[in-house]
Amino acid sequence: MSRKIVILGGGESGAGAAVLAKKQGFDVFLSDASAIKPHYRELLDSHGISWEENQHTEDIILAAGEVIKSPGIPDKAPIVRKLLKRHIPVISEIEFAGRYTDARMICITGSNGKTTTTMLTYHLLKEAGLDVGLAGNVGKSLALQVAEEPHALYVIELSSFQLDNMYEFKVDVAILLNITPDHLDRYDYDMQKYVDAKFRILQNQMEKDAFIFWNDDPVIAREVAIRKPAATLYPFAESYREGVKGYVEKREIILETLNGRFTMDQDLLALTGTHNLYNSLASAIAAKVVDIHDENIRASLSDFTGVEHRLEHVARVRGVDYINDSKATNVNSCWYALQSMVTKVVLILGGTDKGNDYTEIEELVRQKARALIFLGVDNRKLHQFFDGKVEWIEEAGSMEEAVAKAYQVAQKGDTVLLSPCCASFDLFKSYEDRGTQFKTCVRNL
Ligand code: ADP
Repeated sequence: MSRKIVILGGGESGAGAAVLAKKQGFDVFLSDASAIKPHYRELLDSHGISWEENQHTEDIILAAGEVIKSPGIPDKAPIVRKLLKRHIPVISEIEFAGRYTDARMICITGSNGKTTTTMLTYHLLKEAGLDVGLAGNVGKSLALQVAEEPHALYVIELSSFQLDNMYEFKVDVAILLNITPDHLDRYDYDMQKYVDAKFRILQNQMEKDAFIFWNDDPVIAREVAIRKPAATLYPFAESYREGVKGYVEKREIILETLNGRFTMDQDLLALTGTHNLYNSLASAIAAKVVDIHDENIRASLSDFTGVEHRLEHVARVRGVDYINDSKATNVNSCWYALQSMVTKVVLILGGTDKGNDYTEIEELVRQKARALIFLGVDNRKLHQFFDGKVEWIEEAGSMEEAVAKAYQVAQKGDTVLLSPCCASFDLFKSYEDRGTQFKTCVRNL
């Protein structure tokens, strides 16, 4: 094969892939249709890698022997179409990096809960003293770590877009949390294509590998029955059912693995809520499969501090708890947040609607919401749905106003929850910006 490698996209994964490719002696060129961040430009320059930004020079790109594509670039992009038409192989950064390491790979995918489960699994392994790297959608790119600071083991968050361009990469321990419709615009609005992408996590697995998955997800259950995965199966669920390897019985977490049985008091889990029980079960099974001592698993499951912007406890002000769940950008994640609340809630929601159907949270809102505060530029859809269903409804045009109104309405013992169901781009730069502003406003109360 030609030694010419072209990398499309100059973000974390692209820049890392370029450094690794250069180190492996390839003739490397990186191209980005937008501007490249100064930090990545410097990284490329310091390794003597040629690059371009704000354009794609086709002559160079179409002469590549292989192309590494950032997961953010869709197959519909004209340059990718041209590559595919010429049968030039297009792979992901994870696929490329996997060729140059024998490390054990623990990979996590699903529609919701990936980052939380990835961070928790990493915490479990790191605290147990293993030589472990964190990669994928979080942390440094796998390629950069393989090139410059290799580890014996990696915990990797994989989106369906990364999985799309993976072929030979083998996952030793795979976690599939759940599958609900998401990103269908990238899959020709065909749910099965999205499901197939998620299931690529199993390709190349053998019996000695592990497949950890949520047993009660109807889509996963159907696919497992059809596909009959080769790996050793570790289904988990809230309660025992035949074949389930991770579950809760009388408030005790029980895991049954080839490395023995594990038990732990459920009340000691640091992360609360049903969704986080699933995440904790998945991470704990992975830890047990890589044979971490039970005491270490228990300690780390109970001292994990959580991930920013995901049901993050901010402060208690005059007897009211404030929780930042800014990452809840769809209705399903808000449902899990509300479900985990044990007090009355003042819910702040709204933003850029992605075709939301609020029926899913209606019952929980009726049960638990003392008040709703709509935080968005256009709140009409929220009014249409919720007016008359909750006694107290307010609007806010900024985070400061939303928090001030929540402060007025909330009563001692309540929880003020930011769990917006929507994207943030109408009023904020990102969900991180929205969450950070929330925390600042709460701390200024
Ligand atoms: P992802 O990386 O898949 O987007 P995150 O861990 O960032 O997932 O969580 C995103 C949102 O989904 C948060 O609001 C969180 O509370 C919710 N969530 C976390 N785990 C789960 C789960 N297992 N099932 C459903 N929702 C979840």
